[in-house]
Amino acid sequence: MPKINSVRSHLLRLLSLIHSHERLSRTQLADYTGYSNFLISKLTDRLLKEGLVAEVGTATSSGGRPPTLLAINPKLGHLLGFHVGTINLRAVLTNLRGEVVAHHIDRSHVEDGPEKALQHVLKVARHLLRQGHVKLEKLSGVGIGIGGVLDREKGTTLYWPRVPSWIDVPVKAILEQNLNTHVAIDDTPRTMALAEKRFGKARKARQFVYIALGAGTGAALFLNGELYTGKGGFAGEFGHTTIDERGPLCSCGNRGCLEVMVSASTIIRRAEEALAAGLSGELCRMVSENGDRLSLNSIAAAAKAKDRFSLALLSEISLHVATGVTSLINLLNPELIILGGGLVREIGQWLLSPIQRIVEERAMPNPAEQVAVELSNLPEIDWARGAALLVSDEVIRNALHSGRKA
Ligand SMILES: [Zn+2]
Repeated sequence: MPKINSVRSHLLRLLSLIHSHERLSRTQLADYTGYSNFLISKLTDRLLKEGLVAEVGTATSSGGRPPTLLAINPKLGHLLGFHVGTINLRAVLTNLRGEVVAHHIDRSHVEDGPEKALQHVLKVARHLLRQGHVKLEKLSGVGIGIGGVLDREKGTTLYWPRVPSWIDVPVKAILEQNLNTHVAIDDTPRTMALAEKRFGKARKARQFVYIALGAGTGAALFLNGELYTGKGGFAGEFGHTTIDERGPLCSCGNRGCLEVMVSASTIIRRAEEALAAGLSGELCRMVSENGDRLSLNSIAAAAKAKDRFSLALLSEISLHVATGVTSLINLLNPELIILGGGLVREIGQWLLSPIQRIVEERAMPNPAEQVAVELSNLPEIDWARGAALLVSDEVIRNALHSGRKA
């Protein structure tokens, strides 16, 4: 066996690989690391003995004895993950394998101010711990994806464009004080992208852009397999790409940003104006006859019934998003762009084909040929699972260093 320090680093490498792939055989570990079968066998025996990994069944075999799969020991610890959006809160309690033990979806109360919203997060945290029969002192870490512009080092929201009361809110410190464990914080597009990378369509992508479309608009960039954060951590403000210099005023102070052109509230407002002006018979019928609240869903339903206003509105939204996406493709030459978020869940099916067509027509031919533009198919609770991933690597590393046994 190599020296102690390097043994620890080899063990950590195997643990990270097992964690990020969910389950791996010893042969796969040898393939990924280039280590000999002998060394892999010694190292995995050690991981099993220390209770850091567990054997979880066998893979299908192409001949011979089927290989045993290893996964992180779920008893190693539990994490909480929160996705705090402007409107909704998604929360999960997971084990260190990322498996959901308990979950909760609710209003976020962000618009009622930071104190009320964070008290609500803490209430949901206690509720999930109770549901999962996990004591607070056994909680290993908390990851939180939150809207707004963040100081990631301090763990504060610098400001939140559409909710002015969130200036300099020490989110991380408040949660750490109350939950007595390590808390990591990042913005929601990034935590959603982490989920996509671990559980979704981007597992194998190295050049990948996640675009979150919802109450706000943002992006997370993975370049050469790594999250690109920019000099001060502010990369990804894709929502403030100018689409129309003379367009409506955006919460950032500029005009015609993508965010203000395609946000859910803009779409609803446009539909309300059309209803008031009598421009959409089908929408009007749905809202008055069926008693439906005017929503993205009702706009999609009206479009399905061939309502001209709704079709035109959705086509306009597609054009705006596609204009932004085309710039990203020309600039970054990604292999995969995933559109996710609340807006995509409601009307994504109406946006995808037009966006793909416009990208094909407008992006430079070579990068356009190499990119796939797709919709996320993850359930919204996975956005909170993505946030829990902010702390899972560190928790696993600490478990290794403390030689903790399950
Ligand atoms: Zn803006």
